[in-house]
Amino acid sequence: MDRPLTEHTKFRAITRSNIEKLGQWAHLDSDLREAAEVVSLVLPFRTNAYVCDELIDWDRVPDDPIYQLTFPQRGMLTDEQFERIRVAKEAADADDAHKPLLDAEISRVRLELNPHPAGQMTHNVPRVDGDPIEGMQHKYRETTLFFPSHGQTCHAYCTFCFRWAQFVGIEDLKFASREADQLARYLKQNKRVTDVLFTGGDPMVMKARVLERYLEPILEIESVRTIRIGTKSVGYWPQRYVTDIDADDTLRLFERVVERGKHLAIMGHYSHAVELSTRVSREAVRRIRSTGANIRMQSPVIRHVNDDAGAWVDLWTRGTQMGLIPYYMFVERDTGAKSYFDMPLVRCWNIFRNAYQQVPGTARTVRGPSMSCFPGKVHILGIADIGDEQAFVLEFLQAREPDMVRRPFFAKYDPKATWYDQLEPFGKGDEPFFIEPDAETGMPVSLKVSASGGERSRSRGAPARR
Ligand SMILES: *Cc1c(COP(=O)(O)O)cnc(C)c1O
Repeated sequence: MDRPLTEHTKFRAITRSNIEKLGQWAHLDSDLREAAEVVSLVLPFRTNAYVCDELIDWDRVPDDPIYQLTFPQRGMLTDEQFERIRVAKEAADADDAHKPLLDAEISRVRLELNPHPAGQMTHNVPRVDGDPIEGMQHKYRETTLFFPSHGQTCHAYCTFCFRWAQFVGIEDLKFASREADQLARYLKQNKRVTDVLFTGGDPMVMKARVLERYLEPILEIESVRTIRIGTKSVGYWPQRYVTDIDADDTLRLFERVVERGKHLAIMGHYSHAVELSTRVSREAVRRIRSTGANIRMQSPVIRHVNDDAGAWVDLWTRGTQMGLIPYYMFVERDTGAKSYFDMPLVRCWNIFRNAYQQVPGTARTVRGPSMSCFPGKVHILGIADIGDEQAFVLEFLQAREPDMVRRPFFAKYDPKATWYDQLEPFGKGDEPFFIEPDAETGMPVSLKVSASGGERSRSRGAPARR
């Protein structure tokens, strides 16, 4: 349904508290409504009028991919968790005195959902003059992540989000930083950092005026070559670049970044080709690219949303035609509603390779399926026969230990494994690639498998080089 692009549509968030006002809500089956009401007590829920009116095909609900992507589903909790919350909610609805019990139950279930995967909060926090800088992560030599405190929400929340714990106010789990000048100081002291990645939440929820305050100090710094902005706004609220009050200011800011000699890379989180189908989304892409910025596309492969090769062929071919650059296909992280969305690694690999085979070389800039885990980003190259055994062939695309990058290694084939930490080294030579943080120090330790048969013991120190 195309709308005139001159019209200013005001952003309208839809959350737990105003969902009743959504026209389509009343027509939903009551069990879908109940599921959303119960699950959204635990997992953050936020969508918006554009997503509901233009991206979701309500005739296909609950199977519609964008409905699955933004509305809480029954299967996101175990039956037992769901019942605990449902019963506690019923009691609290009947009598306010039971509200604290409901809150306690909600906290308990949240903690059961591994709110903090792969050491995100405690590892890789850099220091300036000895003080840790909140809101920053420096894991790979050339690239630093920055979480501006003004960008800690999104135009809509993805139900699988691995940063979901940031949105539900679990104490101490919120990345935030008000300190753009601290970021600049760090970058001046660390000239090896060429790429700064603004992420969140979504930095593009910030008004142009605020975003400018973060970007401006970095433009001075010669050693910074690329500024990346990780954002879902291009999918969930493309009006940000077309009809929002400060859309033009935002584009002028992008132009200034480019004029100052930086590469501006919009890391667009696109989950499905429907996000590129509306007129306003196409116009957003056109306008962003006209500033000299590039848009790369990345997202995880997840059940219920994009778990078939055809969906990725559509996304990558349509995107490439519009000038977007396919970048990563991720494996869903081990947090939140993972069990609802995840797939065996072998299935992720099959989807990736089936899709990859069907797109031209210009779209084969994409890499994956890739897991962002403690040692780095590891992607699955395939499955090999070694003797009469099978093995996953893996490779690091990024690693905290740069020398581990682009060295193929093997893990025992496991048709059920859904994440890196479930894999085991195939042979002795593969052991250095399996490292995890030490529980006390947070330093990398390698995870060894004894020759006698799968029993794990740990040894300290950096991985040996091959
Ligand atoms: C993916 C990722 C980056 C960026 O890695 P690139 O391969 O350069 O895109 C940086 N930091 C972390 C923690 C990441 O997971």
